[in-house]
Order: sequence, then C-alpha cells, then structure tokens
Amino acid sequence: MRMNHQNDSLLLQAAEQFDTPLYVYDFARIREQYKRLAGAFGKVQLKIHYACKALTNIHVMKLLRECGAGVDAVSIQEVQLALHAGYEPDEILYTPNCVGLDEIKQAVELGVRINIDNISILEQFGLEFGSSVPVCLRINPHIMAGGHSHISVGHIDSKFGISIYQMRHVQRVVQEAGIHVNGLHMHTGSDILDVEVFLNAAEILFETASSFKELEFLDFGSGFKVAYKEDDIATDIEALGKRLSERFNEFCEEYGNELELWFEPGKFLVSEAGSFLVKANVIKQTTATVFVGVNSGQNHLLRPMFYDAYHHIRNISNPDGNQRIYTVVGYICETDTFGWDRRLSEVREGDILAFSNAGAYGFSMASNYNSRLRPAEVAIDNGELTCIRRRETFEDLLRTQMELS
Ligand SMILES: *Cc1c(COP(=O)(O)O)cnc(C)c1O
Repeated sequence: MRMNHQNDSLLLQAAEQFDTPLYVYDFARIREQYKRLAGAFGKVQLKIHYACKALTNIHVMKLLRECGAGVDAVSIQEVQLALHAGYEPDEILYTPNCVGLDEIKQAVELGVRINIDNISILEQFGLEFGSSVPVCLRINPHIMAGGHSHISVGHIDSKFGISIYQMRHVQRVVQEAGIHVNGLHMHTGSDILDVEVFLNAAEILFETASSFKELEFLDFGSGFKVAYKEDDIATDIEALGKRLSERFNEFCEEYGNELELWFEPGKFLVSEAGSFLVKANVIKQTTATVFVGVNSGQNHLLRPMFYDAYHHIRNISNPDGNQRIYTVVGYICETDTFGWDRRLSEVREGDILAFSNAGAYGFSMASNYNSRLRPAEVAIDNGELTCIRRRETFEDLLRTQMELS
C-alpha cells in the first residue's frame, strides 16, 4: 500500500502556525484520487458524485467540483452546502434516508436530483408530483459487503434502500402515479474487497433496471475501501473499472440506450489526503501501560471508538527517536482510546502526533462533547498552507444558547 506520509515538515509548520488539534488536507492528493478513479473506467459515460458527508468543508467541495465531480448529499443541509459551494442543482443527487416528505419537497424546490429509498415516501411523492419530477430509486440488493456491522448497509435487516424483493410493488406504485424513474441506485456498504462480489450486486441492479424504461443512469454507490493499515486490502479500482465498464456497456446494448454510470465515493476521494495533528499533553506510566494523553479525543476523531477503526499514528516531532510502545488516548471523560500498543518514536510531552487517513469522517463527525472546541482545518496546496476553517472559540459554544433574563 502507499502510506501517504505527507511532507512532515509542512505538517509541523501547520501545527506551529495554526496550533493543534488540527485537520490538514493535501489538495493535490484529492485531485490525484479523483483522476485515478475517473481514469479506471473504459469508454463509459462516468459520473462521480462526491459523497460529501465524508468531509463537508466547502473548499474541499469546490476543489472536487473543479475536478469534475457532482455531489451526493444525504441531507437538505448538505444540498444547501453544495449549492453554496457552486454546484448546479442537476449536479447534486439528494440521497436521504428516513426523512419526511417535507424535506424532499424542499429538495425538489431547489431543483436537485431526488433519490427515494422507501415505498411509503415514493407513494406520497407520486401523489404530489406525478410524472413531473423524475426520481431515482435506491435499491437494496441484499449483498453483504464489508465486515463491520456498522458499515454494512445492504443486508436483509438494513434500513437503507427498497428491498429487491419488493420490486413488483414498486412497479405498481410507479405505474399508478406515472412516476418517471430516471435512475437506479445501490450502496451496498462501505467496503468493496472483492470485485466479484461487487459485480454480482451489479447484476442485480442490471436485472432490475431492465424493467424500468426511462432510465438515464445507474448509480453504484460507493464502498471503495482505502488501506488504513500497512497490510489492508484496498479496492482494486483499476480491475473494478475495467470489468464493470465492459459489463456496463453490454448491458446498455441490451437495454437499448446508453446510460450513465455513476459512483459516489466519499472516503476514497478524501481519506488519505487528511492528517489529524494533536499534541502529547502527558505521558502517563501505569503498571501495565505507557499512555500518551493528547489534546483531543473522541470529540474530534470518533472512528477509532465508534467503528473500531485503525488510524496509523506517528510522532512527527521526533522521527528519529527510539521506538517505544504506547497507548494513545484522548482527554475526554470517556474511554477514548485512539490506538492500543502503538510503536512510536519516543514521545515527549509537547510532541506533535499525526494521524493518517483522517480526511474522511474526521472533522465531519466531530462534536463539542465535554464542551471542547472543534479544531481548525487547513489546506496544503502547492506547498502553501491555508486555513479553510477557523478553530472554534468559547463564543461558539454560547452562540445558539438563549440569554434569558
Ligand atoms: C456514505 C455514503 C457514501 C460514501 O461512502 P464511502 O465509504 O465514504 O465512500 C456513498 N453513498 C451513500 C448513499 C452514502 O450514504
């Protein structure tokens, strides 16, 4: 794998200039990932929608638009952010889950593309809009992808998507209201480890697609896995691109129309570009363990605690120090362990530690728990550091609270 050890002296400079905790994003790396994905597919009409929930900084969203991406938005607020970042309404696919018809109506008013993931809302949508507003349908093909229970969304008990077994009912609803179905969508889970498994799921989408006559695109969701550990298997994008584009073109021929092939990666585009910088506050030796307590916690980077995710950690202040074993923990009043038994160059209080692969679901899942302030975000581009979100201040904690006399 390519462990992306960004230019550590730039990271140190960022920590010095903007203080810690700090998220830093390498814009060149994001462009590179976009190009790699776009280049992996043969002669198909490929459209990449950035699943912006991974990282909603508008400057990152703008960058991806410059690359040629659209946006996949899972809430009306993400739709608004995308519009604010300069996306045209038809470049935005709104893919909500368990929202009410009122929010979907707002999205229709904003002119964005609508993805519906349950029959009840589809019926209400049909009554409201008939054939006047095209919709995409989110299908659950019941393919298990990925190993972790939190991030597998294609299985039988999942709340996501319309079950493939309910297609006859869907057809009745669609015909009854004359709904114009312009796309089918699936998002099977967060990890594609095996191209074959993915192609099987794709077959299910093709089979379903043949009974909808007005399709313009098929959206294969995401699930591109990036390597978090040295020996992690990442999705073989090139193999997937080659195999799927071949099969897709065959399908389009059978279907009798050239459809667009859509994907909506989040993690793949932004994860490896991100580093999260923290400071070692205290070295705490117990009978069993040497803890490094840092000036951050689950409030800023939740993935290790929530998903049991591994993030590589290195001590960028003392790269040549002796290797020692540490357990890196946060300062929140919870057991917020970032990493057990990590080999780090000797850590001294005040050293800066860098977490790799922190671009996706890092800042966007951050909170103010323990009344801590959320970090700043910095972009690295052409060797230059630019603050793209300021650090929160105490006033931000009070901003929404009422002053009652
Ligand atoms: C979260 C999400 C994605 C992106 O998933 P990644 O694993 O970050 O690539 C894509 N599509 C939908 C509908 C999502 O909810």
